[in-house]
Amino acid sequence: MFRGTLIRSGNNAKTVKGDGEYETAIMYLAPFTLAGFNVCAMASTAGCVAGCLNTAGRGRMNNVQIARINKTKRYINDRAAFMAELVADLEGFVAYCKRKGVKPAVRLNGTSDIQWEVAHPVFREITKVHPQQESPVRFASVFHAFPEVQFYDYTKVYKRVYRELPSNYSLVLSYSEANRAYADAVITAALDTGANVAVVYRDKATRDALASPALEGRGGVIQNTLHGTCESLSREVFNGDETDLRFLDPKGVIVGLYAKGAAKGDRSGFVLG
Ligand code: SF4
Repeated sequence: MFRGTLIRSGNNAKTVKGDGEYETAIMYLAPFTLAGFNVCAMASTAGCVAGCLNTAGRGRMNNVQIARINKTKRYINDRAAFMAELVADLEGFVAYCKRKGVKPAVRLNGTSDIQWEVAHPVFREITKVHPQQESPVRFASVFHAFPEVQFYDYTKVYKRVYRELPSNYSLVLSYSEANRAYADAVITAALDTGANVAVVYRDKATRDALASPALEGRGGVIQNTLHGTCESLSREVFNGDETDLRFLDPKGVIVGLYAKGAAKGDRSGFVLG
């Protein structure tokens, strides 16, 4: 279990299940506008605010909510200090994983949808290769600064999957039918780029009806079609609840999840079935 000031591992059942070869640390911020600044650009369009996982698990506790709001305020009010804090946490997590003999995986948007690949430079101390080399070195993003870490996220900001992302950052689109134009845009982005699409189904039974046969011991596949207004996407459904290691999923699938926490009662169109 790793405890940083911003990222932590070992307190998410799904990431714990995935631990073995990898250990995952997640950063949980206060989603949408809870901290007074919108960190989820597409949330109102996608209709996911009410069903957000922010209130699931440890998020039910008041002190956890306060800590998330405080972290998010630090991100908003002093970006440079926040990014330095994140770099320190990542250094700690990399060292922890090395000691433990596992590979580090990090999800920065546990409960946010920040575009970390854009305008989020960081500085990292690295061993000097050349006497004239300055240290710390400025990197365009944490992904460039920590090539030894596998980063991944879910996103509703569909334009992100059109970008040339660093090879150690994997993004999965997050589907919602709360807004037909949004559903169309996600389907189009998936068709254009081949990106995987995460879909939240009403319950385990609904998901299992689609993803029941065992596949490589991690889940199953069956065809499902998502319908926007103009676009549709027909793909196999992969059980995404076995582990959270989205970067290991087969390519070109629907990642099937079942609703947890507040999402169970969602009727906006974010949860299907
Ligand atoms: S589901 Fe994702 S995008 Fe929506 S409010 Fe929660 S963290 Fe933000």
